[in-house]
Amino acid sequence: MAFPVTRLRRLRRTAELRNMVTETRLTPDAFVYPMFVCPGEGIRKEVRSMPGVFNLSVDEAVKEAREVHSLGVPSVILFGLPDKKDDVATGAWADDGIVQQAARAIRREVPGLVLMGDVCLCEYMSHGHCGIVKPTLPRSLGAAAGGTIVSSPEDKEKAFDKVVERARRQAEQNYEIVNDASLELLARTSVSLAKAGIDIIAPSDMMDGRVAAIRKALDEAGLINTPILSYAAKFASGFYGPFREAADSAPQFGDRRSYQMDGANIREAMREITADVEEGADMIMVKPAMPYLDVIAAARERFDLPLAAYQVSGEYAMIEAAAQNGWIERERVMMESLLSIRRAGASIILTYYAKDAAKILS
Ligand SMILES: [Zn+2]
Repeated sequence: MAFPVTRLRRLRRTAELRNMVTETRLTPDAFVYPMFVCPGEGIRKEVRSMPGVFNLSVDEAVKEAREVHSLGVPSVILFGLPDKKDDVATGAWADDGIVQQAARAIRREVPGLVLMGDVCLCEYMSHGHCGIVKPTLPRSLGAAAGGTIVSSPEDKEKAFDKVVERARRQAEQNYEIVNDASLELLARTSVSLAKAGIDIIAPSDMMDGRVAAIRKALDEAGLINTPILSYAAKFASGFYGPFREAADSAPQFGDRRSYQMDGANIREAMREITADVEEGADMIMVKPAMPYLDVIAAARERFDLPLAAYQVSGEYAMIEAAAQNGWIERERVMMESLLSIRRAGASIILTYYAKDAAKILS
């Protein structure tokens, strides 16, 4: 039936009619609230590029967790800012690691809250990469000079500067993020977090084989009932910028393109998810959310596992910045962005808006 028999505006006439035929509904129980835990006491330090988001000491994190829970948000995901970093990410898997401390405290004080633990090494590594870094053999200084012909003393100086500069660049390029050795640390971290009271282990490192390694380690430790939410398709993204300030996890050299995914590749994303499902993931995640809604939709179509999406720091920061300038309506855009992620197919949304959106929805 075409116009004039069909008039789609009939069902849009009143708020009640629109509400009756709405296809997608947001509820607070879809939300997971990310929190950044730091050492100290009474600390509540706002992240410069994420207004309203804080680095919290354990005592403050407990207060925040209580508020989150009271708003009907069922879960938080914890990230840690350790007081010390090293080359084996000790802070990630130590019994008294900062997330382990926070998990114990929140578990005790807010027992009903589902605790997710982000599992990665970058926040705990001095170099800021998500795995163990191995320098590969640099070429000699002579080779780096590239056979520069030197004649005058000035030329000699210039040539030397060139050699130093080239050697420096090569040193930065000559490293490898070692996959299999990193798995051991990720597995150790997961067991430590689960023992501290984390309910759901969420690996975000993008090493190959991490889900299998973590599952095996959890099972061997008797933690057979601890589920894994895998950041299965995590893209190398400029939208993570503000997070790196929040979690102090920017890589000191290079970038993460050798392990995180190329934003151009949706078929490869499906392979990544398939691999994690086969390795034993209980839930899967796409990250970031809004620039990758098509990936969320494709994953929903293809996989039957619970599907999560992470509305990342840059998505949040853009909305906040535009709203602060009066260029967009904050609440309206916040809710529309969350709705788009839900409509694309994610049933679980990790978002810095969890508290604010829950207030509106209650
Ligand atoms: Zn990482």
